[in-house]
Amino acid sequence: EPHNRVVNFGAGPAPLPLSVLEEAQGALLNFNNSGIGIAEISHRSPEFLAFRARTDARIRTQLAVPRTHHILFTQSGASAQFAAAVTNLLARHRLLHPDAAPADTPLDYVVTGTWSARAAAEARRLTAPGAHARVHIAADARTHSPAGAFDGLPPRTAYAFSAAPALVYYCENETVEGVQFSSAPASPGAFPFDALPPGAALVGDYSSSFMSRAIPRLGEHALVYACAQKNVGPAGVTVLLVREDCLVDVEAAARAGALPVATLDAPKTHADARSLYNTPSVFALYVTGLVLAHMERMGGVPYYEALSRRKALKVYAAVREGQERGVCRRAGREGSESWMNVVFTAPGEGAEQRFLDGAKARGMAGIKGHRFVGGIRVSLYNAVTEEHVDKLVEYMKWFIAEETK
Ligand code: PLP
Repeated sequence: EPHNRVVNFGAGPAPLPLSVLEEAQGALLNFNNSGIGIAEISHRSPEFLAFRARTDARIRTQLAVPRTHHILFTQSGASAQFAAAVTNLLARHRLLHPDAAPADTPLDYVVTGTWSARAAAEARRLTAPGAHARVHIAADARTHSPAGAFDGLPPRTAYAFSAAPALVYYCENETVEGVQFSSAPASPGAFPFDALPPGAALVGDYSSSFMSRAIPRLGEHALVYACAQKNVGPAGVTVLLVREDCLVDVEAAARAGALPVATLDAPKTHADARSLYNTPSVFALYVTGLVLAHMERMGGVPYYEALSRRKALKVYAAVREGQERGVCRRAGREGSESWMNVVFTAPGEGAEQRFLDGAKARGMAGIKGHRFVGGIRVSLYNAVTEEHVDKLVEYMKWFIAEETK
């Protein structure tokens, strides 16, 4: 690899395209002939504002974001949305239903892995003890798993949504466990949009699959959010797609008795200020813009969708071969497989360490499983090329043969 780099299958921060890094290197010294480096220039300078404007458009076109939705950038990470989504949508609910008893307002969570469980825990923390709202678990994948684990999606009949929740929350791709809803609407693994209560404010965490394939029924979402550091940039940027009617006037809501919302947590703050309410992560936004431009040149989301499918199929095929020969075991059940994070174990004595060591010796890194679940996790984000995947698969095949000698 150029610049003595290794092939990085890390779960995030993830690799960035080489051409982007090379361009950013130059911009660190002098951005766009301004004579000032990109980490030093004002976020209100004409040079940066011109660049920034194109970034929004690149997301809107490639992802087909409808006119009803604002594209906003925040810098507090995807985790900040666990709370911000709750307080904003409770404020919205308060304005829509000023006479309803707040403590009875349900917040519906679909829990399919570590990240949605964390989001539900945050909602519980904010609304305890029964004030303002109550968390309702509409489905918990563990209940439907023979192992009691986050190893697949709940069956379609398992979802029990409330009649009028303030939000319905799900995480489209669970990065830790490698469990993802299918993007094919007819698949049994698709999110059950058709079962949603009418008018529900749907919230989707797309952190680890953003821009790797189309978002089904994007227009029906109140909020879609994603941290940048998997598919579209460095850490320090979070992208929000917020439907117009969910830019809540949080001050009016507070006067009506809603839980107060911090200024920076209100999407309306960022929409009104065109994401320049306070100093944004200029450098991280710049690199994100370069990645989006690169993606556009490659063929946009349709290109990455086809590429992601091919890459995932290749790795899952190698895992299956290992499973048939007793060397590997896939973590997730059939029908819930993530295209972005392939999780498996190597149950033989010392086998996982041998696998990791062998990968390292061949210039491949970032494949140790999450500290919560162990095992091996191969992340296949957009900057991971098909050649990188071929190199890994070749190594996996060699490893399987070696372990079964
Ligand atoms: N949601 C998902 C699905 C993630 O994978 C992550 C990070 O890995 C997060 C949320 C949290 O993102 P951040 O670290 O930007 O807060």
